[in-house]
Amino acid sequence: MRLQDLSNKQVVLGSGISGVAVARELLNAKKSVVMIDAGYPRNIIASKKERLSYQRMFVSLKFKLQEMSFAYANYKSLARIKEQGFNSIGSLAQGGLSNLWGANIDPYEDSDLDTFTYKKDDIKEISKELTNYYTNYSNQGVIAGRKIQSIDNRCLDLISKRLDEDSRVCFKPATIALARKDFDSKRECSFHRDCGADCPNKEIFNAKYELDDLLKHKNFTYIKGIYIKSVDKLSDGYLLRTIRLENQSKSLFKAKSVFCCLGTLSTTKLVLSMKKAINVNLPLLSTPAATFILFSLKKKKETMEVLPFANAVFQISISGQKVGGCLFPFPSDFLLNYLPKMKIINWLLNIARALIFDRLMIALVNFSSDYSSNTLLLDKDDNLVISSLGHSANLKNTFKNCMNLLKQVFKKEGYYVFPFKGKLLDAGEDIHIGGTLPMEQQPSEYACNQYGELSECKNFFITDPSALKRLAGKGHTFNSVVQSIYVVRNYLKRETK
Ligand SMILES: Cc1cc2nc3c(=O)[nH]c(=O)nc-3n(C[C@H](O)[C@H](O)[C@H](O)COP(=O)(O)OP(=O)(O)OC[C@H]3O[C@@H](n4cnc5c(N)ncnc54)[C@H](O)[C@@H]3O)c2cc1C
Repeated sequence: MRLQDLSNKQVVLGSGISGVAVARELLNAKKSVVMIDAGYPRNIIASKKERLSYQRMFVSLKFKLQEMSFAYANYKSLARIKEQGFNSIGSLAQGGLSNLWGANIDPYEDSDLDTFTYKKDDIKEISKELTNYYTNYSNQGVIAGRKIQSIDNRCLDLISKRLDEDSRVCFKPATIALARKDFDSKRECSFHRDCGADCPNKEIFNAKYELDDLLKHKNFTYIKGIYIKSVDKLSDGYLLRTIRLENQSKSLFKAKSVFCCLGTLSTTKLVLSMKKAINVNLPLLSTPAATFILFSLKKKKETMEVLPFANAVFQISISGQKVGGCLFPFPSDFLLNYLPKMKIINWLLNIARALIFDRLMIALVNFSSDYSSNTLLLDKDDNLVISSLGHSANLKNTFKNCMNLLKQVFKKEGYYVFPFKGKLLDAGEDIHIGGTLPMEQQPSEYACNQYGELSECKNFFITDPSALKRLAGKGHTFNSVVQSIYVVRNYLKRETK
């Protein structure tokens, strides 16, 4: 079996948004970086059975597009994921799940970091740099919050008002990570023309584009098509046991410093198998979600060039907790992709749009991970078993109170929850998972120290959402990347001492 010694390099596992951010940071510090990745290209299509199962599990319209299925294809079978009452997702694609994400970036506030090993001040600079980076990736980048003409008029209206006298609900423009439209290479957004909103200057930030840029760097090596099966801890480093996806041939890589960014499920599985932790239950944090539709006589303005993403975010303070949410204009043109291209269909759709679709908005609400009740374990047959205990009474109660408050607030503005109530989504359907190997001051065996280094594993860093201590009721990717950069900078600082 072939052994490649990478001991004199920094080894980054995975090319998702975490992996590319970590690699960029190491390259900026003039390190030689090797990235190892399953790295599925875009031309892979998941089987029909697999596509249908994801469509059933997740509400996002993105799962309806066959060409996007490369982002989750084969993940559960290769990683041997077993689910008990939980809908999980993972990726083996170049760019990982960022091929599918909504790119809503919402920095954690001081209070969201109460239990973390660092304070907001410690990550202030990184937060600022990353916000600029994701939203001004090139000259075509825009921040939804600044270019307000890109926001749906109804959302804009809500943002400008203080809706609740006690300020229990407040609205803000959403900040979306947007990348450039590269006219020369004809690079297009994954949803170009599919989402129905024609937005020629904007596309969602995707880690794959940054990977393309990293590939031009002389100190960067990308080894793709490799599935990392397990890791052995050696006295002087780590031995990665891998399989080449193309022909199932096995190969070994030796590394001294590893930055593990394989996504929460793969990273946790690798760590549990390295620590030979069979049937050890770890909490899997998620941000339980609910969704509802708002109907109003107010219409979306036809003339507006509206982003097909979250157009406004809101925060609800309820029972001493913060619950996050976002509003999307209803993507009425999306249906055009599924219906036969006939004049009569267009005509009927236009009537439906004028009467109903343009008057609808979709709302998504996320509760913090304090309300999640999932666990995972590695069984003796190498399956990663994810279980959910279902929605707790506490979650159901807070959801009910939340809906009552939101109904009142929206009604005042002429919006009605449609049909009559919202719905708590199934466990995992919120898509945000992490917190299996959290950074702690005094880490247990299955946790990381305040430098993101896995307990008893020198120079093995967890740099993806697995190392988050808690997930606030909002998307966690931005905060997870901020934390990962913080880990890399601390590593570089300590290394030079
Ligand atoms: C529909 C959808 C919408 C979302 N919307 C938002 C949002 O609006 N805001 C937000 O904050 N978050 C959102 N998310 C979550 C966000 O996409 C993820 O949190 C983020 O992309 C995770 O990045 P990552 O780099 O940690 O892992 P991943 O993106 O999962 O990347 C993992 C990488 O590791 C590689 N890999 C995995 N296992 C192996 C293995 N065993 N061997 C070799 N390589 C492997 C893969 O090829 C991939 O490159 C959304 C997710 C989805 C699916």
